[in-house]
Amino acid sequence: MPISSALSYRGRIAPSPTGLLHLGHARTFWVAAERARAAGGVLTLRDDDLDRQRCRADFSAAAIEDLRWLGLEWSEGPDVGGPHAPYRQSERLDTYRRALERLHALGTIFPCTHSRRDVLEAAGAPHEDAGDDEPLYPRDFRPPSDARLPALDASNGCNWRFRVPDGEPLTFNDALLGEQRSVAGVDFGDFLVWRKDGLPSYQLACAIDDATMGITEVVRGADLVKSTFRQLLLLRALGHPAPGYAHCPLVTGPDGSRLAKRSDSLSLRALRAAGVTPALIRSAFASNELSAYDLLSSHAP
Ligand code: GLU
Repeated sequence: MPISSALSYRGRIAPSPTGLLHLGHARTFWVAAERARAAGGVLTLRDDDLDRQRCRADFSAAAIEDLRWLGLEWSEGPDVGGPHAPYRQSERLDTYRRALERLHALGTIFPCTHSRRDVLEAAGAPHEDAGDDEPLYPRDFRPPSDARLPALDASNGCNWRFRVPDGEPLTFNDALLGEQRSVAGVDFGDFLVWRKDGLPSYQLACAIDDATMGITEVVRGADLVKSTFRQLLLLRALGHPAPGYAHCPLVTGPDGSRLAKRSDSLSLRALRAAGVTPALIRSAFASNELSAYDLLSSHAP
């Protein structure tokens, strides 16, 4: 029986070039590469370089070099090309803009002139508690669902948000974490899809890339489970099939907390300079070691 190419596994790794890759990123990307390899599929590399303030071309180049040093291989990406090029988000703005126009035509988004600070204050969330996630968008900031939407171009300079289906229970089956549940409008609210500086949000860019690049399974850190629910809503609204998801537990630092980009001593570069080998790192990953400290000490030759 011919194997349909539409059904073959397509995975991706998506580094953000805002710093050097550390052991935490490396482990997630290694899991993604292993799952693609085990499935006999294709691995793509996407450069998540949308944030002009924080992204740097030298970090994009370093990510590619460091992942190759670790032994990862991909057959599509900014450095090797491929059928879904370009693979840098900064070069895909037309694709995101078309998605925004469809969401606008469907009436599933609305313009928002409130700042992040307004939203945090109205949500009663202290700024430092917001973490990486968006605070719940206050209902009374949202226009009525039958309000006429201004044209996109007439609203340059304002943010656009996706109107979530309040109270709808959402589920997906995660290949590593099992069934995940969330309630729209309770666990997360109307979220950003387009920023007033003319760029798509992470949620929109990521969902559109996964769909248009034919990704069949998204492997990424467990910190992004809530984002998956948002991206599933976007994919559904735009009529794209949902990929599978596999969220990896995060590598932890000496104090038990997740590694941040500033964990420079645990960057692949620093480990390489200190004489740590790719084989050692890969074998620690293969034995499911999640503590950076144990990972480096218990696997020393
Ligand atoms: N670029 C994102 C990050 O480094 C990954 C996003 C994703 O895998 O969906 O956190």
